[in-house]
Amino acid sequence: MEEQLAALREQALRELNEAEGINALNELRVKFLGKKGSLTGLLKGLGGLQPEERPRIGQLVNDIRVQLEAGITTKGEELKQAELANRLASERIDVTLPGRRPAMGTKHPLTLTLERIKETFMRMGFDIADGPEVETDYYNFEALNLPPDHPARDMQDSFYITEDILLRTHTSPVQVRTMQASDPQKPIRIIAPGKVYRRDYDATHSPIFHQVEGLVVDKGIRFSDLKGTLELFIHEIFGSKVGVRFRPSFFPFTEPSAEVDISCVMCGGKGCRVCSGTGWLEILGSGMVHPRVLEMSRFDPEQVSGFAFGMGVERIAMLVYGIDDLRLFYDNDLRFLRQF
Ligand SMILES: [Zn+2]
Repeated sequence: MEEQLAALREQALRELNEAEGINALNELRVKFLGKKGSLTGLLKGLGGLQPEERPRIGQLVNDIRVQLEAGITTKGEELKQAELANRLASERIDVTLPGRRPAMGTKHPLTLTLERIKETFMRMGFDIADGPEVETDYYNFEALNLPPDHPARDMQDSFYITEDILLRTHTSPVQVRTMQASDPQKPIRIIAPGKVYRRDYDATHSPIFHQVEGLVVDKGIRFSDLKGTLELFIHEIFGSKVGVRFRPSFFPFTEPSAEVDISCVMCGGKGCRVCSGTGWLEILGSGMVHPRVLEMSRFDPEQVSGFAFGMGVERIAMLVYGIDDLRLFYDNDLRFLRQF
C-alpha cells in the first residue's frame, strides 16, 4: 500500500510538472482527485487494511491530496501569469507605426463657385439673405410685378404644390421678403444665394439649380452703380481681361433692364461653337428696381432707388471650369468630382 502511494505521488507530481495549459491541469485534477480518481480509489481501499494501519495510511493519502491540490493551484497561477505575459507581448501596440490617413473628399464645383461668388460680394459690403424654397404665388410672382396673366410666367413654369404654393422659380422672393422686413428709411445691400426649381431638363438646364440674386436699395442709386458693381464682380471671377457688355432687355421687376454678356472665355471673343460664333456669352440679368416693386414693399420711389441682378451658379461654374454638360454636376460621378 505504501509503495503504491509513493508511486502514485511520483506520477502525479511528474504529470503536474509537465502539464501545459489550464485544460491539462483540470484533467489532472479529475484524474487523481475526482470522484473516480486514483487517490479517491485508494481511499476506498482503506477498509481492507488492518485497523491499526488505517490512521497512518489515511494520513499519508491525505498528505498526498493536500500536496497535489496545492501544486495544482500554484501551477494554475503560473500558467495564468505566463498567458498574460504572452498576451501583453503579442498584443503590444507599436506606436511608431505611421497612422492611417482618413480619406478626404473635395468640395463640389458648385459649392466652390458659390463660395467665390459670395466672397466677392461680401468684400463689397453685401450681406447674405435667405428665404424659403417653398413659396407662395404672391412672393414668387405677384410682388415682383408679375400678375397672374403675365406672359413672363410661362418662361418659369414650375412645380406647383397647390394653386397658390409652388417651389420658387428664382431667388427673387428673398428680395421682396428682405424689403418688406426692412426699415424703408435704411439702405439694403444683399445677395440671396440658393436653390430654385423649374420644369426643364437638358444639357444646359436642370429642374433644380442655383441662383444668386442681388439687391441694393438706397438714396441716389444709379445705373452706373449697377454697372460698376457687376463689372468688378465679373473681373474677380473671370479675370481682368474679360470683356463686359450690357445689352437692353426686359424683366417685369426692373426698368430699365439689361442682360450682361462677357467676351467668350473659350475663344477669347473670336467666335466658336460655345458662343454660337458671336464672341459673347450671356451670364447675368440685371436692371434698376421697378418703382412698382419698391412701392409694393413700402419703399418710396421718389426717395430711394435700387438695382437688382441675378445669375445661375451652374452657368458660371460651367464657364469657369470649361464644363459642357450641366447634368455632370448632379450625376455624382467620382471621376468628375475628384477633379476639383
Ligand atoms: Zn466663343
